[in-house]
Amino acid sequence: MPQDNIDCIIIGAASAGLTAALYLARQSANTLVISKDIGGQALLTDDIENYPGFTQISGFELMNKFQQQASAYGAKFVYDEVVEVKKLDSGKFSVRTRGEEYISMALILAFGKTPRNLDVEGEETFRGRGVSYCAVCDGPLYKKKTIALVGIGDHALQAAVYLSGIASKLYVVYKGSRINEEDELYQQLKDKENIEFLVNYSVEKIEGEMTVKKVSVKSNAKDKPDTRELQVDGLFIEMGYVARTDFVKDLVELNKNNEIVIDKLGFTSEEGVFAAGDVTDIPYKQAVISAGQGSTAALSAYNYIQKKLGKTAVKSDWKSVKVESTESKRLVL
Ligand SMILES: Cc1cc2nc3c(=O)[nH]c(=O)nc-3n(C[C@H](O)[C@H](O)[C@H](O)COP(=O)(O)OP(=O)(O)OC[C@H]3O[C@@H](n4cnc5c(N)ncnc54)[C@H](O)[C@@H]3O)c2cc1C
Repeated sequence: MPQDNIDCIIIGAASAGLTAALYLARQSANTLVISKDIGGQALLTDDIENYPGFTQISGFELMNKFQQQASAYGAKFVYDEVVEVKKLDSGKFSVRTRGEEYISMALILAFGKTPRNLDVEGEETFRGRGVSYCAVCDGPLYKKKTIALVGIGDHALQAAVYLSGIASKLYVVYKGSRINEEDELYQQLKDKENIEFLVNYSVEKIEGEMTVKKVSVKSNAKDKPDTRELQVDGLFIEMGYVARTDFVKDLVELNKNNEIVIDKLGFTSEEGVFAAGDVTDIPYKQAVISAGQGSTAALSAYNYIQKKLGKTAVKSDWKSVKVESTESKRLVL
């Protein structure tokens, strides 16, 4: 039998989801966060300099603080991937992970963005075995090795700056037809001896045995046909981020970028479903903005639950709440 005593399920445990969890738990709502990880995209940077209150902090440390605070007020966590969400005839929501089903009165979608795939032969086979989507996380594994990076825009150049300080040789397979040579990041890279730029090239195939050994690339310039085989120990894919909202597309309205459409209080098109953070159609993607949206969605979700129960709505979270022990009886797990 699925658990059905949960007030609100939050999908995603990063800036948006963890802040929403804190706000709901402080209102004594029975709150469950289901997430593939704790921290989301913030884990990909060692250096956040624009989160108020911290001159400089790593994403990992900041997200740990968020989680500890939400946990201290009673939010519970399950580490899993959500694969299906639907509204039941009762008006409650069923959330399915690979192994379990959970049922709640309200839902907050805060599952952010995930790296865009390259969609070439060998990508699936070698994912985690030489194919990586996170330079900061996996770069240190390639100290003094030969690696390739494929991507476009600032994400790719930022990763190249980082990886060129680690690898003995770095091929930058740049998918755009040209690089802006005035770009500050390019200026940091252009004279480095261990970098070879392949501008306007694409990756065709990734091959190896247990791990990646070879990446085949091809020029996209019609007047300059060229193919090359790069003997490398790893390939970093930096193609930007996408909202993977397929599993909620029949539940809530999406925009043309597959982002969830919300209003200024975090309401989606479906009653009882709220959303916050990078997964929404708000154009600015920043940790502090996701956190702010998370608190807004939480207060809206809480008031939705209160209304359903015939109780009073709240307008703020200005109250002193005793930190609960993890043994509290209102916890769901
Ligand atoms: C390299 C890099 C550097 C950055 N630097 C800064 C910076 O300096 N300052 C700044 O303000 N912002 C920065 N950002 C942006 C910032 O990290 C994001 O705006 C912020 O993390 C968004 O938070 P979020 O909670 O909306 O979503 P995300 O961080 O995308 O987190 C989504 C969460 O949902 C989970 N999830 C996804 N799908 C599922 C599913 N199906 N089931 C269960 N869980 C799921 C993920 O595991 C994750 O925990 C940076 C981003 C990157 C990539």
